[in-house]
Amino acid sequence: MSAAIVDLPGPFSARRVIEFEGPYLAPDHLLPDALPELFRATHAAQDGRFYEAATNRIIMANHAVLIVTPQSKILVDTCIGNSKHRPRNPHWHMRNGPFLEDLQTAVALTEIDYVLCTHLHGDHVGWNTRLRDGRWVPTFPCAKYLFGRTEVEFWRTATAADPETNHGSWTDSMQPIFEAGQAVVVDDTHEIEQGVRLVPAPGHTPGNVMIQLEHAGAISYVIGDTMHHPVQIERPEWSSKFCWDKSLSVKARNSLLETVSDTGAWIIPAHFPTPTALRIKSHAHGFASCG
Ligand SMILES: [Zn+2]
Repeated sequence: MSAAIVDLPGPFSARRVIEFEGPYLAPDHLLPDALPELFRATHAAQDGRFYEAATNRIIMANHAVLIVTPQSKILVDTCIGNSKHRPRNPHWHMRNGPFLEDLQTAVALTEIDYVLCTHLHGDHVGWNTRLRDGRWVPTFPCAKYLFGRTEVEFWRTATAADPETNHGSWTDSMQPIFEAGQAVVVDDTHEIEQGVRLVPAPGHTPGNVMIQLEHAGAISYVIGDTMHHPVQIERPEWSSKFCWDKSLSVKARNSLLETVSDTGAWIIPAHFPTPTALRIKSHAHGFASCG
């Protein structure tokens, strides 16, 4: 279990539970517009925290974010999970990692009040469930699982048409939550408690949301996959090949960057490697991170 990601303003704390971190894909495998000569010209390509030049792979992470507020413990984005049958993706298929043990060094599974998925891709819903006696059961027995309405309606319909949608993750990671009565479908602007609310950011998926933490005018955002890699701060026009609507995804990134730049607001993305949390500054040609 990692220490606090960053000292957030107000009464909130955020920690990472890391399922994977390291060199992952060639830049243009994730971001089709990041052609080699264009990627090499970026600041991110010169930064060993974000790019391994020797193997031409960007460094990424899969982590959940544990947010502790004065009232609740909220787990955001539950990664890939163990024992999930994902034969089309070798990184995801039948994993056997220590995610749950790491999480439990910080919090008991029964202490999680809310599980919240920014969107319902297979790398954000996996630990919603775990295998018990051959059945998928909710990993967090006392939690309400909050899912945005737009996202639920889209993926439920898509899965009905093709059960292999999203690597079949609705069947093993969503359906058991509904069957256990622990799913709560909420509006895309839902306020969980004072200062903790969902903010719609469609583009990566139709119902993609971010989580806004606000206290006394200071704001932080847990942004899920609104950005996948730090290079997108300087090249927000580069969408991932997994984005549902690339132009909406660009719009969501630009809107976020304009909102948070030069304000001191922290952003915490779902796949940024260490140090993960960043603040944004603007300059004449766009945006940059400022640690
Ligand atoms: Zn993701």
